[in-house]
Amino acid sequence: AAQEGFSAEEIDGELAAAGHGPLPVVAVVGRPNVGKSTLVNRIIGRREAVVEDKPGVTRDRVTYEAHWAGRRFKVVDTGGWEQDVLGIDASVAAQAEFAIEAADAVIFVVDSKVGATDTDEAVVKLLRRAGKPVVLCANKVDGASGEADAAMLWSLGLGEPYAVSSLHGRGTGDMLDAVLDVLPEAPAQTFGDAVGGPRRIALIGRPNVGKSSMLNKVAGEERVVVNEMAGTTRDPVDELIDLGGKTWKFVDTAGIRKKVHLQEGADYYASLRTAAAVEKAECAVVLIDVTEPISVQDTRILTMAVEAGRALVIAYNKWDQLDDERRFYLEREIERDLVQLQWAPRVNVSARTGRHMEKLVPAIETALESWERRVPTGRLNAFLGELVAAHPHPVRGGKQPRILFGTQAGTKPPRFVLFASGFIEAGYRRFIERRLREEFGFDGSPIQISVRVRE
Ligand code: GDP
Ligand code: GDP
Repeated sequence: AAQEGFSAEEIDGELAAAGHGPLPVVAVVGRPNVGKSTLVNRIIGRREAVVEDKPGVTRDRVTYEAHWAGRRFKVVDTGGWEQDVLGIDASVAAQAEFAIEAADAVIFVVDSKVGATDTDEAVVKLLRRAGKPVVLCANKVDGASGEADAAMLWSLGLGEPYAVSSLHGRGTGDMLDAVLDVLPEAPAQTFGDAVGGPRRIALIGRPNVGKSSMLNKVAGEERVVVNEMAGTTRDPVDELIDLGGKTWKFVDTAGIRKKVHLQEGADYYASLRTAAAVEKAECAVVLIDVTEPISVQDTRILTMAVEAGRALVIAYNKWDQLDDERRFYLEREIERDLVQLQWAPRVNVSARTGRHMEKLVPAIETALESWERRVPTGRLNAFLGELVAAHPHPVRGGKQPRILFGTQAGTKPPRFVLFASGFIEAGYRRFIERRLREEFGFDGSPIQISVRVRE
């Protein structure tokens, strides 16, 4: 119903926008230089400088949110990482692997000026085995004269080649319509079987933090291999493990067990792997090696999990190696670099000795509970009313913006929409988030707050 100057339609619209569950994932794959990054930029409608990135620089972001024709989804740009050092074949194989495991639909980009190459044909084979819906993007058709080149790509056997110019936007609308036609509403892989089934956990962290050791420790002899890709020759990806009286699904364990000896290229592979594991999981356990300073790579991986909106537990591993001096510095590094993540449950473990490993499951359970928590609208508004009365927003330009009311639009993770009478400053938003956490918990879950201002 309408409230305090917001129409019922406005309120419903905000809730619909914020209330989506986990979004389905579209992966953009193809050889280097076919225009994947250009296309991703076009789809997300931003000039996010993906194309301008220097070669050899590992990108922070892999996944972007996008919307088209009233639907929201995620786009994964699999291009642009160190393709030169990795070599085309390995790079494309890793993309295809990602597409097979973590995407709900695939946009396969081919350079129509070049035509189908052997590498393209090889990717088609991989994609066909994966059984995920594929839309064929015949890119670099900048004008009508290129249409014939696009038509040549019928030969790939993937159905209609959509003639597109990612650079100028020509044809992208029709192609996105085709993508939405085949894209499921919700990510089937991740959550389709989660109702009542085992919860999905991803062990992530930079190389050598101890992921494989931890997996072996928790798995012991209990391990049951779940081969989700029955009928293929791929490695098993997910494993069912009994822990603390429950069965858990540890996702993407092939990526943990498989030791990749691809020197520089390993970075690219690891980023893609981490993104895939995060997409597939409900809760990410991020391992940090306490014997080394917390690095940019560590915080990147944490950010990936938070931005994906997954429940989060931080496991400080190799605790058996910690002396008093290193411990002193570690605590300072945590205060400096991870202060924003104080809400994440922390376990200090040793995957080698088994120290405190029994604390892992309770931490994961806490995080997942928070991730799914729903605050009743009445309680939320009683809380907001008291908060605003006791700590009003600072007066700006003679006006005092007020939070009028709010509601929780969704869970997994909790998403709130606040309706306000004027612009709410970032500092005040953070204050509200902090107080929401104090009041309602949410340990181990990111929370998202959007503010809608009355015109
Ligand atoms: P990626 O390696 O597959 O991500 O390819 P990029 O997006 O980096 O593009 C490679 C090159 O192709 C860049 O110089 C782009 O400007 C160019 N390119 C991308 N899309 C188009 C297009 O639709 N038409 C033309 N003419 N050039 C394009
Ligand atoms: P991954 O690359 O993240 O899978 O890391 P691994 O599990 O392969 O571990 C990397 C190295 O760290 C190996 O030599 C492990 O034996 C060692 N390691 C893992 N966990 C611990 C731990 O808790 N304590 C100690 N001291 N070493 C560990």
